[in-house]
Amino acid sequence: MQKSKLQIKNQNLTELTLTETLRALEEKQFSLEELNKNYLERIEKYNPQLNAYLHINQDNKKIPAAIKDVISTRGVPTTASSKVLQGYIPPYDSTVINRLLENGISIIGKTNCDEFAMGGSGENSAYGPTKNPWDINKVSGGSSSGSAVAVAADLCVFALGSDTGGSVRQPASFTGIVGLKPSYGRVSRYGLIAMASSLDQIGPMTKSVEDAALVLDWISGEDGYDSNCINSKFQITNNKLQQGVKGLTIGMPKEYFGVGLDPKVEKVIKDAIKKLEELGGETIEISLPHSQYALAAYYVIVPSEVSSNMARYDGIRFGKDRESIGQEVKRRIMLGTYSLSSGYWEDYYAKAAKVRALIKQDFEKAFANVDIIVGPVSPTVAWNLGEKMDDPLTMYLSDIYTISANLAGIPGLSVPCGSSDGLPVGLQILGKQWDEETILRVGYAYEQVTGWHNKKPKLDL
Ligand code: GLN
Repeated sequence: MQKSKLQIKNQNLTELTLTETLRALEEKQFSLEELNKNYLERIEKYNPQLNAYLHINQDNKKIPAAIKDVISTRGVPTTASSKVLQGYIPPYDSTVINRLLENGISIIGKTNCDEFAMGGSGENSAYGPTKNPWDINKVSGGSSSGSAVAVAADLCVFALGSDTGGSVRQPASFTGIVGLKPSYGRVSRYGLIAMASSLDQIGPMTKSVEDAALVLDWISGEDGYDSNCINSKFQITNNKLQQGVKGLTIGMPKEYFGVGLDPKVEKVIKDAIKKLEELGGETIEISLPHSQYALAAYYVIVPSEVSSNMARYDGIRFGKDRESIGQEVKRRIMLGTYSLSSGYWEDYYAKAAKVRALIKQDFEKAFANVDIIVGPVSPTVAWNLGEKMDDPLTMYLSDIYTISANLAGIPGLSVPCGSSDGLPVGLQILGKQWDEETILRVGYAYEQVTGWHNKKPKLDL
């Protein structure tokens, strides 16, 4: 039987998801040229205010993706939103870029982010903050701020971000899009400018869960250039994605619903979980007892690895004068140098590594009884620009629900699930290591019955 033609919504073709765009192109409903023209016009109109892109490829020819500026792109400026790398043009492509190119995708632009991916609001960029399209006075989340906003404001078909402690999931949540952090080792890090190598993963930022599954399929798989990358490629059939929630056991960690969680966000998340119950999931309360130490462990491990990774920017081998490094990056280099120094590393780094092992164990125990774990992505919605800039500890607290997945190496998905005070809220779905399939399946089922992902910000700039 002939499949009916895709009905292009009477809105702009820039509102189509990746899956819809592929289908419409196949049906010749428009050309790649028209597609790029439409996106470039929108970028020209909205980017000056949103500041999502640092570099735009006016000459883009294929399906346009936006790429976080910490991902190396051959012949295309890559700055990690730092003055240190201003003018740097990589001589090679990251593995993820090669994989996208093989699948008919090309780069429409490089996106703004916190400098070297360190931050949770997008404000640590040396090139100015990215603005939230739902309210121009709010942060967009970070560090993959520009990638999130490029997707949310329909300035690209999909984007790639990187997630070391939440940088794909949290900005996805703040801008009402889908963000997936894959299991550690699922996607090659070759060509990703390193922040904390034992935690960094590149992930899809998309307009639907189906799109996230497709992009993960494209970018995952073995790579001789990253020895931590496993040799099994992620693949999911439509049948599997559409299996629904029925029969799944869903864990709600009591630590993710405690003090610090905004009651309005809590209500939105609990309603979303009720929806999953209606779809046939069974919820049980669980405990992740070491969660309370996650933030402390993360903010020892990350600066330690940062101090080591940043040593290459010594002003001699690479990049420009290190004087131009921003506050947050300097802070982490100094902290990390301290926590790794002789006489101290056993008290700080070694202890944090032990806590990390306990956090991983918590998840292993929990996943013996549940198929997925759900909770908020962030304790609040997007805050005002500038609000937390003078108070790094408060800023760090906003990472409380996302960092554990990185410490444990497990996959996490953020799915739009409602709003509070007019700003988007994301539901976080965590899975067993290597089990992206189940979290995508649940996200997909949720999306089908709610449609929050179809809501668009009004851009009357
Ligand atoms: N906000 C977290 C931090 O500042 C996460 C950053 C990230 O995932 N790249 O470390």
